[in-house]
Amino acid sequence: MNKYFISTAIPYVNASPHIGFALELIQGDVLARYRRLRGDEVFFINGTDENALKNVQAAEKAGVDVQKFVDQHAQKYIKLSEVLNISNNDFIRTTEERHIKGAQKLWSACKAEDIYKKSYKGLYCIGCEEFKTQKDLIEGVCPEHRAKPEEVEEENYFFKLSKYQDELLRLIESDELKITPSSRKNETLEFIRGGLEDFSISRSRERAKNWGISVPEDDSQIMYVWFDALTNYINALGYGDDDARFKEYWEKGYSAHLVGKGITRFHAIYWPAMLLSAGLALPKEIFVHGYVTVDGEKISKSIGNVVDPFRVVEKYGVDPVRYFLLREIPSGEDGDFSYKKLEDRYNGDLANGLGNLVQRTVTLIENNLSGELIYKPDLLEKEIKEKTEELFKKYIGNLDSFLLHEALGKTWELVGYANKYIDDKKPWAVVKSDAQEFLAIMNNTVFILYNIAWMLVPFMPETADKIFTILGANRDAETLENYKFLVQKGDGLFPRLK
Ligand SMILES: [Zn+2]
Repeated sequence: MNKYFISTAIPYVNASPHIGFALELIQGDVLARYRRLRGDEVFFINGTDENALKNVQAAEKAGVDVQKFVDQHAQKYIKLSEVLNISNNDFIRTTEERHIKGAQKLWSACKAEDIYKKSYKGLYCIGCEEFKTQKDLIEGVCPEHRAKPEEVEEENYFFKLSKYQDELLRLIESDELKITPSSRKNETLEFIRGGLEDFSISRSRERAKNWGISVPEDDSQIMYVWFDALTNYINALGYGDDDARFKEYWEKGYSAHLVGKGITRFHAIYWPAMLLSAGLALPKEIFVHGYVTVDGEKISKSIGNVVDPFRVVEKYGVDPVRYFLLREIPSGEDGDFSYKKLEDRYNGDLANGLGNLVQRTVTLIENNLSGELIYKPDLLEKEIKEKTEELFKKYIGNLDSFLLHEALGKTWELVGYANKYIDDKKPWAVVKSDAQEFLAIMNNTVFILYNIAWMLVPFMPETADKIFTILGANRDAETLENYKFLVQKGDGLFPRLK
């Protein structure tokens, strides 16, 4: 059995989760569930980044003690994972003891010559938690946060990133550290070729407002929030406590991170360099997704287009939301959210497509075969078998290439194919004249539907389970030969939206 580790990024808790982060959780969940389906032993984590300065600012603004503030706000993220039916194995908060211990351990494990003290003057964007150079700014402001960075002058510890430039190039070029999609790989390579500069990895206790993780053996300095945050992945695996799980998953297994495009640099450059310095294994793959716009606009409080994922799920149900985000937004690129598009997909793809297919199949078996169909492989038409297998194979290929939207596209191609097959064959008419032919049609239909249910497992786990139940099918069935489907008529899967 292979060990597979997958993480989502850990968001700051200064604001409520938005729809873009919901997408990241769902994408990560698909990858985790898909791997489990393939028989891997999966460890999937989510978490929160609580040591950032912007959390402190948000707490001050709210007039709440910082620890209290992050405690309250972390709950929203824990809740979001539950509401979206995310199958995470752990949730790590960077104010937890196990994280603090691991972050300090990694700092101490870095080669002594890689960390040095230097006085520095620079422009710092609190939104990014990053020093900016003039070329990063547009008209003097950070393009990501549209805010002027503050000028900071102090003596900090620095990390010798420049030393790892050639090694990082080699690792990424060769896909030893794979970045998916390849457009993000090329961007990263271009950035490295432009020259890597050492970066500051601490700040004075004063500027950190006495919040964060202390630098080992220097209490006057607090660790730079990224230097601490990135270690959450291995800390969740027990790095700080020399846990066996860390070795099994991180050193011997396949480890992957899923991140938004804005933080690729931290994960594909800073993080691997830190691990190289500490003599630890690197992640094997970094999946990068794009941003979600709403009605074609960047999500922003000032525009007032912030979509609350809790409310969307409450209104449409978890699987329709998972389906919409995964299907509509290309996995590695930007995509758009709108209620109109969501409702169109709901009525078109879910109610009229999949829901209708399940409903009519069940009704035909219920009304004409007393709800019982014994599956016969020799009744399966060659064309049906080949079409299903072909789409299933492509679906697997798409999942392996982080093209989740395309994998769902293949699933719905099969839904459309099955609906058309029923339309063409007209089993409701055939049953009156040819009982044997009717049986063959239903045999073929159930075969397709059973395969569709399997394809839905990573994407829409509740719906997949409902279809297995409706078909009276056992997920553990070794073979379908002479398998007895006992269909159950229930409520429709996706009642049409008014
Ligand atoms: Zn910024």
